[in-house]
Amino acid sequence: MTNFDPEKQCAFLCRARCCRYITTRIVAPRKHADFDEIRWFLAHRGVKIFISQRKWYLQVQTPCEHLNENNYCNIWPNHFDVCKDYDPKDCEFTGNGDWDIEAEWTSTAEFDAWREAKRNKPKTPRKKQANNRDG
Ligand code: SF4
Ligand code: SF4
Repeated sequence: MTNFDPEKQCAFLCRARCCRYITTRIVAPRKHADFDEIRWFLAHRGVKIFISQRKWYLQVQTPCEHLNENNYCNIWPNHFDVCKDYDPKDCEFTGNGDWDIEAEWTSTAEFDAWREAKRNKPKTPRKKQANNRDG
């Protein structure tokens, strides 16, 4: 097994991709106003909305102000807890930390098309409930 070198991996191979965006959980939309708010989020450049394991997230591409031009953190080791918790051995670069993404959109048009397709999808008929139960 080769020696794992996080410095080389983060700064040189990956070029610090996890320092270039923020992601936060959002409430799954239910009503018109919720969907319209997501449409508004997506009208902004660098914004992505996605669903992972039935949870909704907002992601904004924007580099951290503490990331320097050599892809090092200027405030290490006093960086944020969320940064410390992200394990370079199990992250998006190594592939192990990939989000299990069910759907994602980067524009209002993509989101509208997805909603339209959902609306037009034929409904699967519900199973009739048995009148009599065994046992
Ligand atoms: S933790 Fe992973 S995603 Fe983040 S900079 Fe290092 S290799 Fe890249
Ligand atoms: S504080 Fe440092 S480790 Fe955390 S995102 Fe910013 S540059 Fe990256």
